[in-house]
Amino acid sequence: MPSVLRGRLLEHPNTCLTNERLFAIVSRMRWQITEQRTQGAFWPDEQLVERHVGTGEYSGLEFLHVNARAIVNRVPAASHMPFEHTINTYRGCSHACTYCFARPTHAYLDLGIGVDFDTKIVVKVNSVERARAELAPLRWGHRHVALGTNTDPYQKAEGKYHLTQGLIGVFAEHRVPFSILTKSTLILRDARRLAAATKIVRVQANLSVATLDQTVWKASEPGTPPPAKRIEAVARLNSAGVPCGVLMGPILPMLSDSDEQIRATVKAAVGAGATNVVGLLLHLRPGVRDHYFEWLAQAFPHLVEPYERRYGSRAYLPHVEQKELSTKIARFVEEARAPRRARSGRPGSAPVSAIPSAPTNRAERLRQLGIASGAADPLVARPSDIPVALALPLPFAVIA
Ligand code: SF4
Repeated sequence: MPSVLRGRLLEHPNTCLTNERLFAIVSRMRWQITEQRTQGAFWPDEQLVERHVGTGEYSGLEFLHVNARAIVNRVPAASHMPFEHTINTYRGCSHACTYCFARPTHAYLDLGIGVDFDTKIVVKVNSVERARAELAPLRWGHRHVALGTNTDPYQKAEGKYHLTQGLIGVFAEHRVPFSILTKSTLILRDARRLAAATKIVRVQANLSVATLDQTVWKASEPGTPPPAKRIEAVARLNSAGVPCGVLMGPILPMLSDSDEQIRATVKAAVGAGATNVVGLLLHLRPGVRDHYFEWLAQAFPHLVEPYERRYGSRAYLPHVEQKELSTKIARFVEEARAPRRARSGRPGSAPVSAIPSAPTNRAERLRQLGIASGAADPLVARPSDIPVALALPLPFAVIA
C-alpha cells in the first residue's frame, strides 16, 4: 500500500472498520490519489487521460484511458516466446478467467488482481496512432507483431474502442505480418478486414478454446463466449480465408484433462478446419495461484487438496506432463483427421499439432519450427502461423 494511502487511512475517523468497508475506502482513496496525480501519471510509459464508467452493455466496467508513449513492446531476448514484438492495447480483461496469468499486472497499477482486473480496463486510446508511427516500413522493416500475448485484444472493450480493428488496418498499410490470439467471437466483426490483410501480409489467428465442457467453462471463464461459438468462429475465419488455429489452454488438471474432454475439443477444432491445435497445461505463478485456489475452494472445494498435492510449491507441472499432453493431442488430431482423409483419398494437410521437444533458445526454437529456413511445408509452422503459445511446452504460457 502506498505510504500516502496508508497515512490517509490512519487518519480515517472510523476506528471499527469491517474488511468490506476498509476495502471500499481503500479503493475510493486509490482513485482519488490516482486522479490527483499531476499530469495523470499512471504507468511509467503511460499517461492517464480520463476515466469512463461503462453503461448499457458495458455497465459494470470502468475504462481508464491512457496515452501510451510507445505501443510496440520488445520481448526480452531471454524469453522463450517465439516472437519478438507484441502490442497490448488493453490492460485488465473482462473475460475474467480465473487462471489468467496477466492478473498480477494490475497490482502494478495499484489495483486489485481480482474484480479490479475483470472490471477496470486500461485502454491505450492512442494505440493506433502510435502503431502507425512505430511500424512505418523504413523504421520497422516488416517484422512480425503478436496481439493477445497479455490480455485479450477482442475483449468487451474492443466492441467500444475498435483499437484492434484499427491495428489490423495499420498492419496491412505497413505490410507488417501479425498474429492474433483471442477467446472472443468479436474477432468475426473483423473477418473481412483480416481476410483483406491476408492478401497483403502473413496473418494467423488463433481462438483459445480450452474445453467444450459447459460446467468448467462457465465456472472458469465467466466472461467469455461459449466454447462452441468459438469453434464456429474458427470455421468461419478459415472459410473467409483467414488461417485460424485452436489453442487449448489452459487445460485444468482434474477439471478438463480427461481423454474424453480433450478428444472432443480436438475433434471440434479439426472439424472447424483449424490450421493448428496446441494444448497447454495450467500454470500458477505467484499471485495468480492464490486467486485460483480461492476460486477452487468455492467452485470445486474437493479439488483443493489434490491441487495442493499436484502443484506443491511449484508453478508448473513437470515438463513430461506437457509433453504427454502434446503427444495425446497429436494422436487425437490424427484420429479426427482419419475420416476426412479417407473421404478425400489424400493424405491430410493441416491441422498441425505436434510441438517439437523444447529447444533451449529462441534461435533453435525458431529453426525447429521451420522459421529460419522459411519452410514451405504446410505441416511446418511459418512465423506468423505460430500461435502465441506454440513454444510452450516451456513454462511461459500465454493465454488469451
Ligand atoms: S486468460 Fe486471456 S481471455 Fe482470459 S482473462 Fe486473461 S487475458 Fe482475458
